[in-house]
Amino acid sequence: MSGGICVSNMNGRTRKKQYDFLCKRDGEYCKMCGKLPWEGQLVIDHIDNDNSNNSLNNLQILCRGCNYVKNPRKGPLDMCVSSNTKDSLVINRSKEPKFREYVYMELDAKGVLVYDDIINSGAEIIEVSPETTKRYIRKMCSKQGKLEIFMDWDGASLVYSKRVKSIRYKQKEISFE
Ligand SMILES: [Zn+2]
Repeated sequence: MSGGICVSNMNGRTRKKQYDFLCKRDGEYCKMCGKLPWEGQLVIDHIDNDNSNNSLNNLQILCRGCNYVKNPRKGPLDMCVSSNTKDSLVINRSKEPKFREYVYMELDAKGVLVYDDIINSGAEIIEVSPETTKRYIRKMCSKQGKLEIFMDWDGASLVYSKRVKSIRYKQKEISFE
């Protein structure tokens, strides 16, 4: 699914070995937000933020977004070990994870988002065009993505007769209560 690349100053082979070890030990996803390899770039994070402490107990896998939030001083390009295969545009690398973080944050806070709202507010906050955020959302709502588009009642309108295009986390099973 993803090819390994390494841009750290550490030996790439060693880094890849550590990454494989962590995948086996903890699973290949972000320990903070649960992002999977095809949903964003995963990196090796130093839990104590000390880059010289390479003890395996001090290492964990995070997505770049969470890694950056946890320790901004390191910069986003530190220790990338996995990347989306075709997603090679540099601009995507920096903007898309930020947008995803934003969407997940909003979703966690609100549960459901109105499609047009998130396209527009996302574009404003991440400083890309709405066409670009639409593209990001499409990926997040793809088969492999975590989100889905559905028609929800328009909570903003006074009369609850209108449905608007909305986004939520994919519903796993329909439960009958
Ligand atoms: Zn994350």
